[in-house]
Amino acid sequence: MPIDKPQFSVAIIGGGVAGMTLTIALAKRGIDVRIYEQAPQFTEIGAGIAFSPNAKQAMEQCDPLVHEAYLRVATSSGSPDKINTWYDFVDSYTGSEQWLFDVTRDAPADGCHRAHFLEEMIKLVPEGVAQFNKHLDKIMENGRSNPLTLNFSDGTTAEADIVIGSDGIKSSVRGILFGQDAPEAKPTYTHRYAYRGLLNMDNAIKALGKDLATNRTMHMGQDGHVLTFPVAHGKILNVVAFRYDTDEWTDARLVVPTTKESAKQDFKDWGAKVRALLDLLEDKLDKWAIFDLGDHPLPTYAKGRVAVIGDAAHATGPHHGAGAGICIEDSAILAELLHTAWNRLEEQSTKVAKTETLEKVLEVFDAVRRERTQWLVQSSRDSVELYEWRDRLCKRDPAKLKEQILWRNHKIWRVDIRDMVAEANRKLEEQIV
Ligand SMILES: Cc1cc2nc3c(=O)[nH]c(=O)nc-3n(C[C@H](O)[C@H](O)[C@H](O)COP(=O)(O)OP(=O)(O)OC[C@H]3O[C@@H](n4cnc5c(N)ncnc54)[C@H](O)[C@@H]3O)c2cc1C
Repeated sequence: MPIDKPQFSVAIIGGGVAGMTLTIALAKRGIDVRIYEQAPQFTEIGAGIAFSPNAKQAMEQCDPLVHEAYLRVATSSGSPDKINTWYDFVDSYTGSEQWLFDVTRDAPADGCHRAHFLEEMIKLVPEGVAQFNKHLDKIMENGRSNPLTLNFSDGTTAEADIVIGSDGIKSSVRGILFGQDAPEAKPTYTHRYAYRGLLNMDNAIKALGKDLATNRTMHMGQDGHVLTFPVAHGKILNVVAFRYDTDEWTDARLVVPTTKESAKQDFKDWGAKVRALLDLLEDKLDKWAIFDLGDHPLPTYAKGRVAVIGDAAHATGPHHGAGAGICIEDSAILAELLHTAWNRLEEQSTKVAKTETLEKVLEVFDAVRRERTQWLVQSSRDSVELYEWRDRLCKRDPAKLKEQILWRNHKIWRVDIRDMVAEANRKLEEQIV
């Protein structure tokens, strides 16, 4: 028996980059979508974020307005001849800040302040679509052809025909799919932690000199690296200082308070410029444990009408600067698949067809996304070994390091997202004829 419109409803759990971009992409396609976020509002941490060419294509594919929102806040290197430079790699360990090599793109390399991008994206989420203070606890199935029921911690419920968990590295939805105690539900400590800061650019120039401060720089060294790039149209320098750690991470929190002294102690053997840079950090800071899903990659991103995307599906270390970008790829592809399903169900809308079609959408999503996203997780682990001179084959050899860094990044950057979408749609069309 035909059913009333709308064709189906989508519930998105978690309003980070993945959930926000998917929400905007679906809303722009006229699909009935709600996003449930556990926090009282959309929030971002005070830190920078960089986006690679694939991420920008994916933004465009989600909706051109997402890409425009990013371009309004994007900041490239300060020197005109370095606009396409992803990073200048320098030796900051032996004290010389000696330039070793650069890695450039075919297009501008840029980043932004996370909060500035978020402010722009919030403007694209239609009124009434987002609900806050909604921590998802459970998803209940009430018969194959009926909507799923979502249970939130505040005792309220909601219904949706399909549920997408974009609830980050500690995902509740992943726990629901695999069991809270399953290895897949638990991220692994990658034996790296990071100090992060946003510095006034004038002060950073005094510490590093104009060239190093205003251009994107990867300060390499033994068992650590410090990356810097300008944000806020060059007024602020984003700093992330990573350290290799032989210990286990025993705190249940992934972010713990620490002090500048701890950061200075960790880099006490490094060159004067990096030490001067770290001296500009706030006295009280946070230390970020870098976890990923690399030890227990998920065997599937979807079961029935429930799926995970973004960090919930494939949380990665940040060493390609591509974790959020690949989340946006997920959003672009899933939005297009759901749009195809929406149009198809408009012609042929029965309860059975709806459930089967939504299951096929998620099966195809899983099939087209798992390999690339899980490769990124492993490659991020390999890349940090390169930056920190721990790779046994490359050691400190600039030519070998560059070769490794280059092919890995080309695999991330040199893709055509429209082709990925077309391929995914082709697979779906084959399944739902
Ligand atoms: C140090 C560092 C630097 C990085 N730099 C970059 C970079 O330069 N470029 C890049 O592309 N990537 C970078 N990344 C990776 C990037 O930040 C992440 O991949 C990305 O932010 C993940 O987005 P997400 O939406 O999947 O998850 P999140 O941003 O974690 O969002 C999850 C959301 O879900 C909500 N939530 C959680 N549980 C529930 C629940 N049960 N119910 C309801 N809501 C829930 C949370 O409150 C949160 O809002 C970096 C990561 C780190 C750690």
